[in-house]
Amino acid sequence: MMNIQNNVVLAPYTTFGIGGPADFFVVVATLDELKEAIAYAKTNALSYFLLGTGANILVGDKGFRGLVIKNETKAYRFDGNILTAQSGATVADLIQLSKERGLSGLEDFAGIVSTVGGALWQNLHFLSSDRSKTAFIADILQSATVLHENGESEEVDASYFQFGYDKSILHASKDVVLSATFKLVLKDVEEIQKTIDENILWRKEKHPLHAEQCSAGSIFKKIEEFGAGRLIEKVGLKGKQIGGAQVSTVHANFIVNTGGATAKDVRDLITLIQAIVKKDLQLDLQPEISFVGEF
Ligand SMILES: Cc1cc2nc3c(=O)[nH]c(=O)nc-3n(C[C@H](O)[C@H](O)[C@H](O)COP(=O)(O)OP(=O)(O)OC[C@H]3O[C@@H](n4cnc5c(N)ncnc54)[C@H](O)[C@@H]3O)c2cc1C
Repeated sequence: MMNIQNNVVLAPYTTFGIGGPADFFVVVATLDELKEAIAYAKTNALSYFLLGTGANILVGDKGFRGLVIKNETKAYRFDGNILTAQSGATVADLIQLSKERGLSGLEDFAGIVSTVGGALWQNLHFLSSDRSKTAFIADILQSATVLHENGESEEVDASYFQFGYDKSILHASKDVVLSATFKLVLKDVEEIQKTIDENILWRKEKHPLHAEQCSAGSIFKKIEEFGAGRLIEKVGLKGKQIGGAQVSTVHANFIVNTGGATAKDVRDLITLIQAIVKKDLQLDLQPEISFVGEF
């Protein structure tokens, strides 16, 4: 029996710590509950939003009109070097579980807050362990089970997602990822741990730390070879603040919630950055994060 709550403030469910109430909110821990929640929304003509760890979204101050489904489906299984995990499993947990079995592939994403579903949505990425290229979750994805809008589930292979940089087919469809299967490779546990440690250290040195400052990671997509952070720094906006939202002094492509920031503060800062980068550099910065609900 689902426990649907009314009027639940979403800020605590996002890494930004920002966002108004959802009219309806439910936590799902099994695939049956997840399907039931979606069916409930459809039967009652409610909009619904699938929420992972809320690390790539800005929720509006007026909240969400409809049902927010907080995905905590976390079951997983290993079959040799093949890992299948439900979409609410966190990448951090899967890195740990894989490492214990001497299985490599996910540790490139150590230190990033994400569920499996969110990782596929945005094609999670970070520098490879030798720093020579970008590692994408798409590189290790073998297949996935998706729930289509018509209520049918289907097993699809990785090519179905049409992955690109910061994108997948999930942006354009109403598919929900139920589970994903990753192909890992055997590796020495110490080697895997070394990559984990190096990636966490890299983040400590280069990014505002999630544990210390609330953010949603990078705000803007990079423009070809130009990192958005460099462009924002170039136009003199590093440290710029509107209300409680500030362009991070550590990495200019992060906006941090210095305490009490509203979604409007963040949106206004985003608009300002876009206008000044356009005026000074004739470049169009596009947000990488999603805007959810009413602003
Ligand atoms: C400090 C910090 C650092 C970051 N660094 C990086 C980085 O290095 N690389 C990187 O790629 N990202 C980074 N990010 C962004 C973020 O971690 C990723 O985008 C992550 O994959 C988001 O996952 P999530 O579970 O939080 O998704 P959410 O933010 O909860 O949701 C994002 C989108 O995915 C959709 N979604 C979620 N689950 C499903 C599902 N099962 N089926 C269909 N759609 C679904 C949601 O509906 C929403 O549209 C960073 C974020 C933070 C806060």
